Amino acid sequence: MNEIAVLVLNFTYEPLHFTNAKRAITLLLSGKAESVEASPRVVRSPSRSFNLPAVIRLAAYIRKPLLERVAFNKKNILRRDGYTCQYCSRRGEKLTVDHVIPRSRGGQTTWTNVVAACLRATCSRATARWRRCASGSSASPRIRSSSSPCIC
Ligand SMILES: [Zn+2]
Repeated sequence: MNEIAVLVLNFTYEPLHFTNAKRAITLLLSGKAESVEASPRVVRSPSRSFNLPAVIRLAAYIRKPLLERVAFNKKNILRRDGYTCQYCSRRGEKLTVDHVIPRSRGGQTTWTNVVAACLRATCSRATARWRRCASGSSASPRIRSSSSPCIC
């Protein structure tokens, strides 16, 4: 029975993973899941007989493990921004990550407030101008790109 795969859906019918039939039956009998679709295979015990589930749905919503989310770190921020400074669009420079709205002004360390930035002095001036624009015009910063340049 361990080689039979059963699809496990979250409470919201979002596919989570596959499990084996033994684990699926345990979840069904404990009331932690319900059968959504049965397979033609039949399981018999001395007192009961029922079809093996092909798809089960959990009775309660569970959050996906953190490992499946994209980690918030410098490497992934640089990857998201294409290893390009978001203030001056230079590539190949020594890059760091920068808070668009500085933490001293209440900026948070989140995906929407942290961008890749180069260390050049010329970029710093553009950064200061850009920050004035971002912090003064809206609550969420606008990321500069070649298609939508920041107009300060
Ligand atoms: Zn730059």
